[in-house]
Amino acid sequence: MTRPKSSLQEKIARLRATFVGQLPQRLETAQAQFQQLSLDSEQNRIALVELHRAFHSLKGTGDSFGFNELAVVAGEAEDYAQQLLDLPETQPLAQTALVNIEALIHQLIAQAQILIYTDLRNEHPAQVPFLDLETLPEEKTPQGPPLVYLCDDEPEAMRYLAYQLSCLGYRVHSFTEIQDFKQAVERQPPNAVIMDVQFPQGRTAGTDTLRELAEQIGRPLPAIVLSGKGDFEARLSAVKAGCSSYFLKPARPLEIAAALDLLVEKQLAEPLRILIVDDEPEVANYHALLLEEAGMQVQQISQPQQILEMLRQFMPDLVLVDYYMPHCNGEQLTAVIRQFPEFIGLPIVYLSSETNRRKQFSAMRAGVEGFITKPVVPEDLVQAVVLRAERMRTLRALMVKDSLTGLYNHTTTSELLEQALAQAKRQQTRLAMVMLDLDHFKKVNDTYGHLAGDQVLVALARVLKHRLRENDIIGRFGGEEFALVLKEVTPSVAEGLVNQLREDFSQLEFSAEQARFRVTFSAGISCYPGHQSAEGLRIAADQQLYEAKKRGRNTVLLEVRHDTGS
Ligand code: GH3
Ligand code: MG
Ligand code: MG
Repeated sequence: MTRPKSSLQEKIARLRATFVGQLPQRLETAQAQFQQLSLDSEQNRIALVELHRAFHSLKGTGDSFGFNELAVVAGEAEDYAQQLLDLPETQPLAQTALVNIEALIHQLIAQAQILIYTDLRNEHPAQVPFLDLETLPEEKTPQGPPLVYLCDDEPEAMRYLAYQLSCLGYRVHSFTEIQDFKQAVERQPPNAVIMDVQFPQGRTAGTDTLRELAEQIGRPLPAIVLSGKGDFEARLSAVKAGCSSYFLKPARPLEIAAALDLLVEKQLAEPLRILIVDDEPEVANYHALLLEEAGMQVQQISQPQQILEMLRQFMPDLVLVDYYMPHCNGEQLTAVIRQFPEFIGLPIVYLSSETNRRKQFSAMRAGVEGFITKPVVPEDLVQAVVLRAERMRTLRALMVKDSLTGLYNHTTTSELLEQALAQAKRQQTRLAMVMLDLDHFKKVNDTYGHLAGDQVLVALARVLKHRLRENDIIGRFGGEEFALVLKEVTPSVAEGLVNQLREDFSQLEFSAEQARFRVTFSAGISCYPGHQSAEGLRIAADQQLYEAKKRGRNTVLLEVRHDTGS
């Protein structure tokens, strides 16, 4: 007898949920075991065996339930614990392995938070997509928070940087041996590398390694050089390895993070979205192929009446319209699109076999951006489209984003909140609204200067961007006030997540001139379905924020509503 599939899925979903629910306790135990390790204790062996077992089981269970991210990190921690176990009992523990285990435990805790938060679909077991591990493609580009390899032969120097970067939301793996670093790159290429120049193997062994790797894979690895030396030879070796950023030790983590962001954002930039309207599917297919080949995301429609729905759903950066279509020509279609104020700025380009310039110009009166003649020259098509679509992206970003932090501005955040709420109502899912405000920020500005204050705002934005999910909404609501909309989370998970963010952010060290300082934030949380309107959510979250400030700041408060039990 085979059981109905849904019941198996339900069971798996429950098991997954239990596993996720136990994660915080497990990791707390692991952390306690780690703290028992010391460089010269006889008790090490017992604690190490326990720790190794804990990582091993996390990895195994994580793998079976499809939590690949977590399993990978646990597996690495397991390897380091094994390395320590392999040492003769009389030998002191290796410092690098300890540094890495500590960073990995921290990453596991952060990932557990994200899991608890993303895996809430388990509340609706029927929707759980069970991952078939056999058919999963091999992981190539790292998923989740950006993965950074830090390679330096001085573990002490790495420790502080690795920790600060992990608080900013990066997954950091440290290596003291070039060989280990190379093997890791082969197994899983990172999003970025931070490399020292000088190693025992040679004065420029670090940068030389980057150059060799670049030759092997045919492009430079995105990398930053961090060195104790700033002489010409060392700097030149970095240039030859294809690295443009060069930092002198001691490293300032926030400066390094800014350079890392530039490297990572380029890789994560969303592809341009192009909509093609053409009554001949074969022609549309061909144009779509050319654009997709150049890295764009393309949708096609053959019936002009589908356009309005498609524009709203797909939100293209540009529309390519066939000029001659049976029921409605390109000019008429453009006129319909332009009737909607929200599409006034949308670039529209005609495709047509019309070669008469005069007719082309007259067709363009309806307010289109250009005219491309069929049959197209592939490079011309790609170039014409990229140029105009990118300009649209930039304009849109200026309208919806805040220029200092790159987060959504107040107006956009409010609009997106309304949309998210409507969606939650339709799909009967939950939602949490978070109002977040920096503590004593005026004093930060007064003491360390406005620029230092800006640096704090940017760092907070970075933590939020790296640690929240792609479809959550992160906005800068006012000067030093931020609003978050977390989708499909229970109130307690939202609270746990924001508390973890608070904790990590409070560990960051900022610098201004000679001074070093830390900053905290407070936050208030309200939830749907507890509240039914965007305004209600915002006011309730604000009240909790106000209360958190009153209670001494560096605090997260969740609104508890007795009437609805949420
Ligand atoms: P509380 O803990 O009660 O929130 O105290 P606070 O000092 O953070 O709050 P207050 O509202 O009194 O001060 C907010 C400060 O934030 C004042 C303003 O100078 C600063 N600020 C607002 N926008 C920016 C900005 O873009 N950059 C910098 N550096 N400071 C800003
Ligand atoms: Mg404040
Ligand atoms: Mg304020």
